[in-house]
Amino acid sequence: MPESGVVVVGAGVAGLVSALLLAQQGLRVTVLESADHPGGKMRQLQVDGAAIDSGPTVFTMRWVFDRIFDAAGTSLARELNTSPLSVLARHAWADGSRLDLHADPLQSIQAVAEFAGPDEAQRFERFCQQARLVHDTLEGPFIRSPSPTLLQMASALGPSGLRVLLGMGVMPSLWRSLGQHFRDPRLQQLFGRYATYCGSSPWQAPATLMLIAQVEMDGVWSVDGGMHALAQCLARLGAQRGVQFRYGESVQRITLSQDRASGVQLASGETIAAQAVVFNGDVAALRTGLLGAGPLPQAVKGRAAERSLSAITWSINAPTHGFPLERHNVFFQDDYASEFTDIFDRARLPHKPTVYVCAQDRGLADTPTGPERLLCLVNAPALGDSDHITPEAIDQCEQASFQWLQRCGLQVSLQSHNHVRTTPAQFHQLFPATGGALYGQATHGWMSAFARSNSASRIPGLFLAGGSVHPGPGVPMAALSGQLAAEAVMAHRALTKRYHPVLTSGGMSTP
Ligand SMILES: Cc1cc2nc3c(=O)[nH]c(=O)nc-3n(C[C@H](O)[C@H](O)[C@H](O)COP(=O)(O)OP(=O)(O)OC[C@H]3O[C@@H](n4cnc5c(N)ncnc54)[C@H](O)[C@@H]3O)c2cc1C
Repeated sequence: MPESGVVVVGAGVAGLVSALLLAQQGLRVTVLESADHPGGKMRQLQVDGAAIDSGPTVFTMRWVFDRIFDAAGTSLARELNTSPLSVLARHAWADGSRLDLHADPLQSIQAVAEFAGPDEAQRFERFCQQARLVHDTLEGPFIRSPSPTLLQMASALGPSGLRVLLGMGVMPSLWRSLGQHFRDPRLQQLFGRYATYCGSSPWQAPATLMLIAQVEMDGVWSVDGGMHALAQCLARLGAQRGVQFRYGESVQRITLSQDRASGVQLASGETIAAQAVVFNGDVAALRTGLLGAGPLPQAVKGRAAERSLSAITWSINAPTHGFPLERHNVFFQDDYASEFTDIFDRARLPHKPTVYVCAQDRGLADTPTGPERLLCLVNAPALGDSDHITPEAIDQCEQASFQWLQRCGLQVSLQSHNHVRTTPAQFHQLFPATGGALYGQATHGWMSAFARSNSASRIPGLFLAGGSVHPGPGVPMAALSGQLAAEAVMAHRALTKRYHPVLTSGGMSTP
């Protein structure tokens, strides 16, 4: 095997983490990224002179990055300024009711009591206890496990862990389980929304996804410079450790030699040999043969599963009026079920979209007086590679979304110069083979979490990292997958060379 280093295809958060940790181990790493900047979905758009975070905005599971930065020989606190938010999110309904969830659990309980009465507040407390239990039960045996199977997880859970899962009933959906917890439909709606954090419908997602509520209740941070600054930081640390970044380079093919990954071929025709390839694009690209035919489409687990949600986003720099925005705001419609039947059953844009608004100048600093930076998002079907979603349908959805904000009291005036809209078709262009799905495959049904590929693909020398592989989507989860991929590469090297890194759950070290 030539001594040719590791090629990482894609500079999304998982690719950046893999590259950083492998370079920290002394490996020669080249990152090839088709965009002209790092971050992938963690992108920033310039709108009317303002830099707007236009991908992920909610930074959770800080401990994941604490460990990654630690494994890279530094610390998150040294490299980036992050601040905890005291209000996790503000939720609003058209009848004028509002509920804030707070970092302080007692404040949240009090807020729920004022919003829905003391009995519901007690039910909220019991829900929090169960969400914590599910989170703590699954963190080790599933989230941190490199390749969980149902059998393996059951044995790792042990009798007490199994009791926690069985205590939830026989595999109910998140929606049904929430219906058992809450009487107030608005709370069912609020906590059901966490399924959309991994691109899924609350009606089809397993009840275990209530752990996402726990993740958020454990803390939401804002990052100075926005989430894109996290990507830039990881790229900078990688470069300091010798990673070579080549932007504007699309990988057209992963090359194989004797059925092992041997390198990549770029769109320019250039070939680069590699001892190992880490693929950070969506596994759908491999599965559909976009990176080459032959055995490559079989490198990933299972058949093509249902795509997760896409979105329409508006990155806006404009003044707002009429509603006291927090940093994270959700404006709920009355008929929540229709949003998901529209998207997943009728394959169309929701006619009653829930609107998420990230007000990026709020939460820590004083309320802005002039134009402010917003990211507005509504869920959409991942049909960006078809002509199902017409420009007229997108305009209609835009109208419905901003009229809904107005009904809830928030006025934002969209003008051609003050916003940039991104549609499922544009997300599909940015993230090939996805139709614009932003979270890999949907987490629908109990077994879906086990249907994701692991970091080691079925082709020796080819590794997978990103939101479409285990442990799943979201910035911290994708980062974890990048760490798992780096560990798998090191283990592969240990097998193919007489080189023995020590693998530890908190990262890697070489004796
Ligand atoms: C609008 C939006 C809002 C979101 N909100 C949140 C949130 O609040 N919190 C949260 O935790 N998560 C959120 N997410 C999800 C989160 O952003 C993703 O799960 C995560 O960033 C995915 O990272 P990744 O490592 O899979 O790489 P990606 O971000 O998918 O990047 C993959 C990279 O690979 C490159 N690439 C692919 N194929 C090739 C090729 N052949 N050659 C060269 N380069 C290639 C792409 O250009 C891209 O840069 C959101 C996502 C979006 C889009």
